[in-house]
Amino acid sequence: MSARRIDGKGIAEALRARIADGVAAFRETVGRPPGLAVVLVGEDPASSVYVRSKGKATGAAGMRSVEHRLADSVSEAELLALIGELNRDPGIDGILVQLPLPGQIDEQRVIAAIDPAKDVDGFHVENAGRLAVGGEALVPCTPLGCLHLLKAELGDLTGKDAVVIGRSNIVGKPMALLLLAESCTVTIAHSRTRDLPELCRRADILVAAVGRAEMVRGAWVKPGAVVIDVGINRIAGGDGKGRLVGDVAFDEVAEVAAAITPVPGGVGPMTIAMLLRNTLVAAHRREGLEEPRL
Ligand code: NAD
Repeated sequence: MSARRIDGKGIAEALRARIADGVAAFRETVGRPPGLAVVLVGEDPASSVYVRSKGKATGAAGMRSVEHRLADSVSEAELLALIGELNRDPGIDGILVQLPLPGQIDEQRVIAAIDPAKDVDGFHVENAGRLAVGGEALVPCTPLGCLHLLKAELGDLTGKDAVVIGRSNIVGKPMALLLLAESCTVTIAHSRTRDLPELCRRADILVAAVGRAEMVRGAWVKPGAVVIDVGINRIAGGDGKGRLVGDVAFDEVAEVAAAITPVPGGVGPMTIAMLLRNTLVAAHRREGLEEPRL
């Protein structure tokens, strides 16, 4: 392996320490901690794990963490009523509804009901629109975390050729907009893109957010590129337990790239750190305070 391994875990820990300082200063000034409410519907095991780790990280940063667990059978009206309460609660600065939601609930209607000022996932159309036009948005946590890693690795991104594989509203599209705002020349690739390997070989920055185990091969990568692997895929392991891999064939790509994020330990820890960051930023904006630079 010749590539540098980008230490997302370590970078996230350093960021969380700075956020904890910001939280302490906020408490001192405002007399209350920033508050994050996480809503979980149903018993999906992966979602439960995410919600638990988000709650733990929120508490560790000195924030108030509130968890609402609703039955799988909850109606859309009941969920919307809870969101209305959280919107009105002055001690809550961030609201996160863990996706996916059960079939009887319209996800878009639920996201639209969240006060955009408390939308720490950045999924509300108002925040998506502000990101697109260059306003003061709350930006989705995963692409924000990827950008933080890229800046830590490369500094100024101006003029870099960036290819983002994946066009979801949660990762691919906001990632492309963030890179564009950093003056990269951005291409978004997706399932209908022609000759993806050739396109990827042009990238100084390659972000893979697909959900296909080890799809990006060593031969797809330009020597010296920086590769960010967002994918989380469970594949069968030798011990029968299975293991997590990204969308990038790590060992092959590490022979060619200048730097690469591992899975796990790359983008994943940054996502939670950025959730805390967004909650702290939302709290400052709601209180009319100057935002911390994080
Ligand atoms: P998604 O399913 O919404 O989008 C996947 C995208 O990949 C689509 O835009 C599709 O066009 C594209 N795609 C599918 N097959 C392709 C192919 N063969 N070639 C090129 N493009 C193809 O997924 P998502 O929500 O954007 O998540 C992507 C991956 O990132 C998943 O593995 C997910 O688990 C992971 N993820 C990780 C984090 C984290 O914190 N690390 C957060 C969110 C998502």
